[in-house]
Amino acid sequence: MPDYLHLSELHINIIDKETLNDMKKFIDFFHIRYINFGKIPLCNLNEQHGFKIGNFCFPLCVRCSAIFFSVIIIFVLIKFFDKQFNIKQVLFISMLHVPCIVDGILQSFFGIESNVFRRSTTGILCGISFAVTISYCAEKIYRIFFSENRNSLMIKKR
Ligand SMILES: [Zn+2]
Repeated sequence: MPDYLHLSELHINIIDKETLNDMKKFIDFFHIRYINFGKIPLCNLNEQHGFKIGNFCFPLCVRCSAIFFSVIIIFVLIKFFDKQFNIKQVLFISMLHVPCIVDGILQSFFGIESNVFRRSTTGILCGISFAVTISYCAEKIYRIFFSENRNSLMIKKR
């Protein structure tokens, strides 16, 4: 048997049918979103969950858009007012993501269809919780690694 034949057989064995199928699914995931950009929301591909500006459908569904915009707005407000939270406040505010999860669970597992109002309000609350938690963690990480007056988390060497 010639050498090249042997090699090609080896390649067929390495990339078997299952792997090829997985690769196809992976590529399809992006391709379906690429061809549907501006037509349906790309996060859940459900036309009813999107909102349109003229003829252009926003790439995120109502819930994701609400989370996205409220995170941006809360970040700006936190920065603008230079607000710092303590851990109790963060834990309390982070509870605001619960309505969003409850709404999602009710919809996916109990068949109780949500509506635009519920999706957007729970999304906004979830975004507030995200923004406050992320800004708190970012602040702590920044203090540990970059700040001159590091707090008690660092062991004093002198
Ligand atoms: Zn979404």
